[in-house]
Amino acid sequence: PLDRQQLGRNSWSVLHTIAAYYPEKPTVDQQKDMVKFMALFTKFYPCEDCSEDFKERLTANPPATQSNTKLAQWLCKMHNEVNVKLGKPEFDCKFVDQRWRNGWED
Ligand code: FAD
Repeated sequence: PLDRQQLGRNSWSVLHTIAAYYPEKPTVDQQKDMVKFMALFTKFYPCEDCSEDFKERLTANPPATQSNTKLAQWLCKMHNEVNVKLGKPEFDCKFVDQRWRNGWED
């Protein structure tokens, strides 16, 4: 089984990658589905503390689903909130596309 750290790392990878490939101009249905996806992902996330904590964060700060850029930045901010809570360094969100979509130039 995955421990909490492995589950977290793998989950963030999936979530940031999904955000990185979300459409720049999503339809209304895609936007609604993304709100539902985040809520359901959180609901079934198999770490109870994490799930409860993230559910509150989602209520306070609902997914910005208007565009690819907005969603990727929103998720980066949410992940940073969790980083701060856990005493981890914050990630500079201007590098989110390089990290999760385009890769780094040499
Ligand atoms: P991770 O935080 O898993 O990050 C993985 C990689 O993502 C990093 O190496 C970095 O390259 C990149 N990254 C880091 N920050 C960002 C960012 N802001 N934007 C984009 N990319 C970034 N653990 C708990 O103990 N308590 C909790 O309440 C908790 N809640 C969680 C809620 C959710 C929704 C998820 C997915 C995970 C949660 N976790 C929680 C797990 C925790 O966030 C980490 O995943 C885990 O501690 C492993 O951390 P890590 O140092 O390997 O890096």
